[in-house]
Amino acid sequence: MALSEFEIIQHYFHELGPRRSDVVCGVGDDAALLEVPAEMELAVSLDTLVSGVHFPADTPADAVGHKALAVGLSDLAAMGAEPAWFTLGLTLPASDEDWLTAFSAGLGALAARHGVRLVGGDLTRGALSVTIQVHGFVPRGAALLRRGARPGDRVYVTGSLGDAGLALRALRAPLSLPPDLLHGARRHLERPVPRVREGLALRGLAHAAIDVSDGLCADLGHILAASGVGATLWVDALPLSPALQAAQDILGEADSLSLALTAGDDYELCFTASPADEPRLRHRLAEAGGVLCPVGVIESRRGLRCEHADGRIFFPPARGYEHFSGSSDEASR
Ligand code: ADP
Ligand code: MG
Repeated sequence: MALSEFEIIQHYFHELGPRRSDVVCGVGDDAALLEVPAEMELAVSLDTLVSGVHFPADTPADAVGHKALAVGLSDLAAMGAEPAWFTLGLTLPASDEDWLTAFSAGLGALAARHGVRLVGGDLTRGALSVTIQVHGFVPRGAALLRRGARPGDRVYVTGSLGDAGLALRALRAPLSLPPDLLHGARRHLERPVPRVREGLALRGLAHAAIDVSDGLCADLGHILAASGVGATLWVDALPLSPALQAAQDILGEADSLSLALTAGDDYELCFTASPADEPRLRHRLAEAGGVLCPVGVIESRRGLRCEHADGRIFFPPARGYEHFSGSSDEASR
């Protein structure tokens, strides 16, 4: 017999993620009771992933669980916040125990890695969708905002771009790439790694930060708008993954660069900082297990320009993903 709502919560979601002493009351009462440490601000972010929109309908359940939490943790990372708790709003077409087992395993593994505890949620029947709200701490006044970029800052990213976009492209139309490279790209799409430690390492050094969920051009665009500045991106300096480098021969330079610039779903951090702080940043990111890739410069002239090393302007063929623009070609997001 199918599990009831109460049994599903009891079986799969009652003890998810490590126990924490700041959870006075977690799953099981009318509301969770949580303790925010003194001198800390609470960072809160919510994301909904809808099957067939944000992930292909045949995505494995453990990947859905992983990704739903990863996108929230990525938002906390972009604020320089330390993850603590999350809540889960789950809408399921049926009480499918195999699916729930895999989903909660994917969710639980990532929760364990980052020390976050599931403290409440809601369960309803309907088309598959997963909403997660994450909560994290940041010392008062230390959060990384979008609005602090200054002319002369360098623009950095924390890792390779375009892999998730490449995997989506390969799902739509077969690409003759070596299977291990395609597999790696697919992994980026299904199991993005939130750059939480990197985000913490940027506190006090980055002037502005965002996570790259909708494509570097679109997300850097938010920093530029919030900061009242412009930027030039150095397209030949973009960190392309081995898969995207290999795909360059098949797709051509313009298409592969545009995947790195506009495809989205990468969940690297993009931030700006003074070039004088670059050695310290490099050191701190290395300590956090991350990398520092300079990809451009902030300028007072508004707008975003993409340039080759020889000065040729590059015009990306597509913009970042936007749900209500009606102009996107990312049908499977
Ligand atoms: P109520 O009707 O009072 O909102 P619910 O029956 O929805 O209570 O939930 C009972 C308890 O189970 C609450 O503590 C709630 O936070 C928790 N809960 C419900 N759904 C989930 C879920 N998907 N994940 C984690 N906790 C959940
Ligand atoms: Mg409820």
